[in-house]
Amino acid sequence: MNRHARPDFAVLGGGLCGRLVAWRLAGEGHRVALYERGDAAGTQAAAWVAAAMLAPLAEAASAELLITRLGASSLDSWPRVLAELPEPVFFQRNGTLVVWHHADRTEAPLFERRVRANAPAELLDGGFVALAGAQLGAAEPALAGRFNQGWLLPREGQLDNRQVLAALAAGLAERGVDTHWNTPVNEASLPEAGITIDCRGLGAKPVLPTLRGIRGEVARVHAPGLQLTRPVRLLHPRYPLYIAPKQNGLYVIGATEVEGEDMSPVSVRSALELLSAAFSVHPGFGEARILELNSQCRPTLPDHRPALFWDGARTLRVNGLYRHGYMIAPEVADEAVRFAAALLDGRIGDADAFAGWRREARWSELFPQDFAREPA
Ligand SMILES: Cc1cc2nc3c(=O)[nH]c(=O)nc-3n(C[C@H](O)[C@H](O)[C@H](O)COP(=O)(O)OP(=O)(O)OC[C@H]3O[C@@H](n4cnc5c(N)ncnc54)[C@H](O)[C@@H]3O)c2cc1C
Repeated sequence: MNRHARPDFAVLGGGLCGRLVAWRLAGEGHRVALYERGDAAGTQAAAWVAAAMLAPLAEAASAELLITRLGASSLDSWPRVLAELPEPVFFQRNGTLVVWHHADRTEAPLFERRVRANAPAELLDGGFVALAGAQLGAAEPALAGRFNQGWLLPREGQLDNRQVLAALAAGLAERGVDTHWNTPVNEASLPEAGITIDCRGLGAKPVLPTLRGIRGEVARVHAPGLQLTRPVRLLHPRYPLYIAPKQNGLYVIGATEVEGEDMSPVSVRSALELLSAAFSVHPGFGEARILELNSQCRPTLPDHRPALFWDGARTLRVNGLYRHGYMIAPEVADEAVRFAAALLDGRIGDADAFAGWRREARWSELFPQDFAREPA
């Protein structure tokens, strides 16, 4: 791109959402500039810390139907996105295993009831398989004999978050996006562009005052001898936990969920809880090596839904991805890209046009009905 010409789009924030939106817009031939306060690796983003599980059914235990439907569609979209990126990304669709210790067995029917209430029927059909005894060991040999019962959610997936961020950065370069790493942008220093797309996550709080952070802590450990083949979720009344196996013996163990925008390092309590729970799933974690203990905050709107806010002029904000960013990003980014392109070419200019657009949108629930108003 000619760096001196005014870009069609300035994307603020180069975490997960900003990278994906900028890369998609550039792929449609637009001139795009991206501004990220942190580095090209993505270390300042919530996306850097995330476990990147793509688990709409397991998440249905706490997420509503819109989220699980976005997650189901995005699971199908990710392979297409990854196939177009210039670097390989670990992507797995080998299911989620849900287990519980005998003492916590009352958690199981609660989990099942919530999942069945919030998941789309097409995900549940054949996607929620009860396992008992030897069946569980056959499905996940590393856990043979350790749990009496469990559920296999065979269609769920996961990917490597840091590989996605790196591959998207390479994709931005390949598509000629004018990237400005280590460049914070605030309302007083907005870059020139046709349309501004604000994907700053929690960094957008000055303009989205109802946005809040929900702190999450994870451990990254190296346990090459363990051989879990898919993410495992442990039901527990106080310390629900997941263990997501990535490549080369790397495991992401998470995550706490604490109200508040505390970005300080992981607490001793959280480290003990996460690591003890992992050890209770498999004692082999006792010999694992702790590579990192990380904390970050999930950008969250009051209703825990993602949203696309149009300011009535030239700015679109994409935010509120909460704990589901990876799970829903392809669909949310698609909707944002379609809307942004319509803004650029003048198809949306007033409330009537917006209402018409919203009626026709694939994911109309992502748009607040009254575009000029933030969520209550
Ligand atoms: C512990 C934890 C575990 C998670 N696990 C999962 C999971 O398993 N599955 C899943 O789907 N999701 C998971 N998530 C959620 C996921 O990480 C987020 O939903 C996602 O990262 C949100 O994407 P985003 O682009 O909106 O925000 P971010 O990824 O936070 O990106 C925002 C970017 O904006 C930049 N920025 C901020 N302010 C400015 C500024 N003023 N100027 C320029 N740049 C700025 C930031 O540096 C950052 O790079 C997890 C999150 C956490 C914290």
